[in-house]
Amino acid sequence: MDKTVTFSVVAPIYNEIDNIPEFYRRVRDVMDSTGEPWELVLVDDGSTDGSTERIRELAADDKRVRPVIFARNFGHQIAVTAGLDYSRGQAMVIIDADLQDPPETILDLVAKWREGYEVVYAVRAEREGETWFKKSTATLFYRMIYRITDVKIPLDTGDFRLLDRKVVDVMNNMRERHRFLRGMSAWVGFRQIGVEYRRAARFAGETKYPFRKMLKLALNAVTGFSYFPLQVATFFGFASAGIAIVAIPVVIVLRVAGSQQFAGQATTLIAVLFLGGVQLISLGILGEYVGRLYDEAKGRPLYVVREAPEDERKT
Ligand code: UDP
Ligand code: MG
Repeated sequence: MDKTVTFSVVAPIYNEIDNIPEFYRRVRDVMDSTGEPWELVLVDDGSTDGSTERIRELAADDKRVRPVIFARNFGHQIAVTAGLDYSRGQAMVIIDADLQDPPETILDLVAKWREGYEVVYAVRAEREGETWFKKSTATLFYRMIYRITDVKIPLDTGDFRLLDRKVVDVMNNMRERHRFLRGMSAWVGFRQIGVEYRRAARFAGETKYPFRKMLKLALNAVTGFSYFPLQVATFFGFASAGIAIVAIPVVIVLRVAGSQQFAGQATTLIAVLFLGGVQLISLGILGEYVGRLYDEAKGRPLYVVREAPEDERKT
């Protein structure tokens, strides 16, 4: 193993063919200006648009580019995980390949790392070129996660960050399948600090994070770092039981007094539907946790690699 690399830049790539050359150029210029040895770990997350070839070409021209090529699409968080597995640097920088995270900001992250911080996360002070829907769901998402989860995940912070070797060593041993890396790196602890930056618009192409994937990530964040949904189910259980305990004597007294107020099927139907709903939702929530437990129990590798640098395969 080459122990002389100071910085590893890790970028997940899923169909980013038009971004790759520009991304490489800007990262190279920025990293060269640090005056330290660096490497660029490009994880191809099952691209189908020729990005894979582009990555291979780069690696052939510049030995500092190390390609990790997946056998299929495993998702963004898993791709970053693989990148961290293969990184050899003393500090790793996680960055998107679509140039929304400006590579120049890496220098700000590095400056804080040199001051002795082990986690330096980039905070989105502004976002450009994103839809109203994306921005508002993101804002809501960060605030909800902050309130619900047990670890304090900084607001408006994506995966763009610098992690010290010490932190990555811990994270690489956390092999949970449904990953939320921001949560994991907050969970680890150490000295953490944020640096503000302007999130740019995409250089080329379209987002690879449709609503479905965002929802999945949000669910992973909530279930991975809290029991909140289960507690909500418990709360509804107690609330329904409480209403019943009050309602029963009230209805009995009204009936004895000759009132017809609660005769009729509508009230029964509503009560049954309401409780049925609450129960099914609770079952679904339970199912989310049980399903995750099942996935962990199977113990499958997190990803399958088709081509690894120096062909040292990890899973
Ligand atoms: N990405 C990936 N696998 C996926 C989806 C996305 O590796 O299944 C990569 C993508 O190529 C990009 C980064 O993850 O480099 C962030 O994705 P994107 O820009 O689409 O997300 P957004 O910025 O819109 O939230
Ligand atoms: Mg993006």
